[in-house]
Amino acid sequence: MASRVAVISDIHANWHALEAVLAAVDAERPDEIWCLGDLVGYGPRPNPSCAAVARRAGLCLAGNHDLGVLGELDLNDFAPDAVESARWTRGVLSDESRAYLESLQPTARREGVELFHASPRDPVWDYVLSAEAAAAAFELTEAPLVLVGHSHIPLALTLDGRSLDGGHAPEGTEADLGNGRRLLNPGSVGQPRDGDPRAAWLLLDFGSSRASFRRTAYPVERTQAEMRERGLPDALAERLAHGV
Ligand code: ZN
Repeated sequence: MASRVAVISDIHANWHALEAVLAAVDAERPDEIWCLGDLVGYGPRPNPSCAAVARRAGLCLAGNHDLGVLGELDLNDFAPDAVESARWTRGVLSDESRAYLESLQPTARREGVELFHASPRDPVWDYVLSAEAAAAAFELTEAPLVLVGHSHIPLALTLDGRSLDGGHAPEGTEADLGNGRRLLNPGSVGQPRDGDPRAAWLLLDFGSSRASFRRTAYPVERTQAEMRERGLPDALAERLAHGV
């Protein structure tokens, strides 16, 4: 089993954010990269983002936006800006990107780890952002470590016996993977929503039982310019500057 793993999620075709994160990941020399889904949707560069993840990630999940772009989820269930960007993405998606996205599933398992794009009770749509959703996530799994993406909020939760602890995990948060069970969300590479516009990711070290939440700055204005050039909804470009 890989001893050190970088976890990325919710890239959303933000190539400049992904490129910066992969450079920061490389500096840590992990054994593997895992991606929790939503490679595309919202952002302007779906094909290079898919190609890089296909090349680099040892494990990758499908997210709701990936499935929406593929036509496997009904776009009526998405917000209007997401629908507009999904339709645009469909029009530019290469055959290679499509084939890669079609090969992905929203859940996976590794030794001691269960992975979901959204949550165990609904791997595509459910947000783990409440104590109730977190309790359900632990209830429906058995692995010591549960990884989820989807909410774009980095999160570190611990279940020790019956007590549930933790919450938002800003840069610098370190979680102990030792006693009790953990549910971690790395946050979003390409569209962070916790007020910090820098790209979010997570480094797991199973050898020392540590999880470390990281943030990486990237040229937000370059992604915004690409979104405006392509006529994607302006609100989607604007929010990147604020991390909301
Ligand atoms: Zn997402």
